[in-house]
Amino acid sequence: MSEDYENHYDGKCGICGVVGYLQDIQEHVLAEHEHVEENGTVNNSSPQQLQNTTEWQEGETRLLLDKYESYLPLVGPMKKFKTKKNMWLQISKDLSVILNVERSPLQCENRYKTILKRKKRQLKTMTEVAAAVLILSMSRK
Ligand SMILES: [Zn+2]
Repeated sequence: MSEDYENHYDGKCGICGVVGYLQDIQEHVLAEHEHVEENGTVNNSSPQQLQNTTEWQEGETRLLLDKYESYLPLVGPMKKFKTKKNMWLQISKDLSVILNVERSPLQCENRYKTILKRKKRQLKTMTEVAAAVLILSMSRK
């Protein structure tokens, strides 16, 4: 690797050492190392998890979030859904009609809460990912 080549870039992955433009490296770390856990180990999803039949599939989760987003503004005393409970009931029906999966309104609500928790955790991980991106130009100057 020539010096010119290295000078061309301003970022480096602190995990695997890949060199590139800072923005590319940030994307690389998020894409390639998104499973870096808080303790720094890589989380390989175990096969046991797949055996769980109550596990939500990606399509179900996407539909759930999609519906939640579009229904939430319709929740209110004078609106389509009087309470959030009614909204979860509708989302449960949507999952059944569109994806042919049976999820109770409570399961839908719990799933949403789980995603929220996970999102908060992911934000923390992303901060750590940002810390793994080394800025080459800073150490050079
Ligand atoms: Zn890397």
